[in-house]
Amino acid sequence: MGKASRDKRDIYYRKAKEEGWRARSAFKLLQIDEEFNIFQGVKHVVDLCAAPGSWSQVLSRKVYLPAKLSADAKESDLPLIVAIDLQPMAPIEGVIQVQGDITNARTAEVVIRHFDGCKADLVVCDGAPDVTGLHDMDEFVQSQLILAGLTIVTHILKKGGKFIAKIFRGKDTSLLYCQLKLFFTDVTFAKPKSSRNSSIEAFAVCENYSPPDGFNEKDLHRLLEQIGSPSGADDLDCSSGWLEGPNKVYIPFLACGDLTGYDSDRSYPLPKVENGTYQSLDPIQPPIAPPYKRALEMQKASSHGIKDIEKLTLEN
Ligand code: SAM
Repeated sequence: MGKASRDKRDIYYRKAKEEGWRARSAFKLLQIDEEFNIFQGVKHVVDLCAAPGSWSQVLSRKVYLPAKLSADAKESDLPLIVAIDLQPMAPIEGVIQVQGDITNARTAEVVIRHFDGCKADLVVCDGAPDVTGLHDMDEFVQSQLILAGLTIVTHILKKGGKFIAKIFRGKDTSLLYCQLKLFFTDVTFAKPKSSRNSSIEAFAVCENYSPPDGFNEKDLHRLLEQIGSPSGADDLDCSSGWLEGPNKVYIPFLACGDLTGYDSDRSYPLPKVENGTYQSLDPIQPPIAPPYKRALEMQKASSHGIKDIEKLTLEN
């Protein structure tokens, strides 16, 4: 799809470029905030799976910059935003970057070290694996990212804090809801207006972190596994008991964002310009090392009949 054609079919893609966001995902976080006021009183944030960085931009604009611009701003009091991704990303004011895999314990340790003993008020996770189209598989890999996020949450989120995580709705949604309810008093699954209806994506908005009494972070996985078995759910009092039959869990599900606003599934005419020729804007920040770069290089190498890909890099 050409850029102008995508501008027409994807209003949030066009608006993101006009408003200086690196990705249309920025609107999802903004619309979640409109409904849940997630940035209020927030000073310390972790952005998991952050590249290319539009959520980090939102955090910088909503949390860091207002504090920095306030008259009595002291360097030591400025908000702390730590962003992690497998991919490197271009710098964003007020955001510390960590390149790593969130499912790896060592990455979690690096993040925790940045907080130097203090706790986060908010953890956000927009992680997504490369989607295969096999829903069960995609949902499973996605759930592993959420669990990695939850591991980091249990180490650094302060009591009363919030966790926002992308989920894929599927057959295990109730189980995930129950697992999150173990740690947060309020869990809502939200669908921002900027997230396409055709997509199974939604966001778990978890408020008021309050882990079970005597909870030890080392027990997280055992605890979550327990809840995945019928007997365990009774022991853990997952508010409604086991997930089937009369005790089936009903999950609060909310559409958010201005419902009279732009519809992500509709095409909109391109804006009128004086000389009559609409010029599509370039993306704000193309990825600096996208995962598909190597594949493109290999494709190019093979079309030049070059077996050694490093040689191609030298020649071009
Ligand atoms: N929130 C981002 C933004 O607004 O620009 C978009 C995030 S994008 C949808 C999903 C990201 O998840 C990708 O950049 C990918 O590299 C990252 N990701 C996937 N698995 C990861 C992992 N195990 N550890 C760290 N990042 C991961």
